[in-house]
Amino acid sequence: MTQTEDKPTVQDTPLVPIEKIVSLCKRRGFVYPNSEIYGGVAGIYDFGPLGVELRNNIRRYWWWSMVQTHDNVVGIEGATITHPRVWEASGHVENFVDRLVDCKKCKRRFRIDHLPPENWENRQCPVCGGELTEPRTFNLLMETYLGVVEGERMKTYLRGEACQNIYLDYDNVLKSSRMQIPFGICQIGKAYRNEVTPGNFLFRQREFEQWDLQFFVHPSEMQRWFDYWKQFRFEWYTNLINHKDRIRLRAHASDELAHYAKQAFDVEYQTVLGWQEWEGVHWRQDWDLSRHSQYSGQDLSYTDPITKERYIPWIVETSGGVDRTFLYLLLDAYEEEPDPAGKEPRTVLHLHPMLAPVKVAVLPLQKNKEELVTTARDIHKKLQRLMVSQYDDVAAIGRRYRRQDEIGTPYCVTVDFQTLEDQTVTVRERDSMAQIRLPIAELTMYLLERVTWQ
Ligand code: ATP
Repeated sequence: MTQTEDKPTVQDTPLVPIEKIVSLCKRRGFVYPNSEIYGGVAGIYDFGPLGVELRNNIRRYWWWSMVQTHDNVVGIEGATITHPRVWEASGHVENFVDRLVDCKKCKRRFRIDHLPPENWENRQCPVCGGELTEPRTFNLLMETYLGVVEGERMKTYLRGEACQNIYLDYDNVLKSSRMQIPFGICQIGKAYRNEVTPGNFLFRQREFEQWDLQFFVHPSEMQRWFDYWKQFRFEWYTNLINHKDRIRLRAHASDELAHYAKQAFDVEYQTVLGWQEWEGVHWRQDWDLSRHSQYSGQDLSYTDPITKERYIPWIVETSGGVDRTFLYLLLDAYEEEPDPAGKEPRTVLHLHPMLAPVKVAVLPLQKNKEELVTTARDIHKKLQRLMVSQYDDVAAIGRRYRRQDEIGTPYCVTVDFQTLEDQTVTVRERDSMAQIRLPIAELTMYLLERVTWQ
């Protein structure tokens, strides 16, 4: 990707309060609370017309970078319900638990692993200082039942993490594709968790979407591939953001590591919530395939076609969240620029052009001049076949620019009286607000080069 390097960065602006994003998302149709007319459901959201475009672009770009441009990676899409034994093998039935305490005074609820250590030691609420209750344990898996006859229904779970399907399909992929180790399987899909403290908008939800890569390697090559994917994923996120000082790779301390992991890193991003995980890069060794071999009775070992060596492949995992990416990118992109004339600030989303939900808005200077309207509609119709374009003729041109800035549209094309004489239009760029004059014949190429990835 070359475009990001030229992209202006927005430095030294204060961290954006999450409420600003919640309000913009509702107002402009990015995200709505689920079942709102019934009072809503905590930790569950719906995506509106602009939200679904942004989300699709984020997903498509991940898929392009991970699957399409790597010869040794393929994709799957697994079901969200699996055999219940999967969750015994994975350890989730036994260990996927949160330990919670409540404050007896202010009634707030906390996960013990999120409490400052001194508050946990003193059993003291970090907000009001009140006394904390004894911890209670909750399993996060969401139960569901298959079958209709009472007594014959099978209890199972909505998947608590999407990646399990990859281990389940690993052998089928190996047999049905031409992949050989080292190779990877990717998936984007929904996961469900009965989070006991859902909150902070899309940050911690009960239904959310994950993207995972499970990369299968010979044990002797584990370190090399772990380093490769760690670096790749860190650069991938860094390229998408404006605030390069708000991203970091954090190595897990030894007491955070799973027993099979030699090392693990989180890509973290800084928001008003502090430094928090964006994606995890994990050294999973042979844990997952060994467990599924053991619980299913199927041999999941691999035989090297040349050396005939037989072994259980080791796994490098990169696991991130589509929704968390959605939220972090909006927090990163949001800016209220003061107006030099002292009027309303200009709200701008400095989203990367290739991720922006609307790529171009086509605007006739006046809506009561038929020739301007016809030409603008014509341009819009042509562009629409190749990218998301909006036609807008309501309100003064400045107001229309502002409307587009607020949703991150990188380019506005204005059809004015000069257009009718020389077939050129004004193209206005969102971040710099610079305007250039371009022949209509060159417009499509000009935009495609700037709003798509290659
Ligand atoms: P946390 O410690 O924040 O609970 P986790 O370590 O359980 O997260 P993973 O199971 O590794 O998270 O999930 C991988 C990714 O999925 C996370 O990096 C995050 O981006 C996303 N994710 C996890 N839980 C949620 C959630 N409840 N809502 C939204 N995204 C989530």
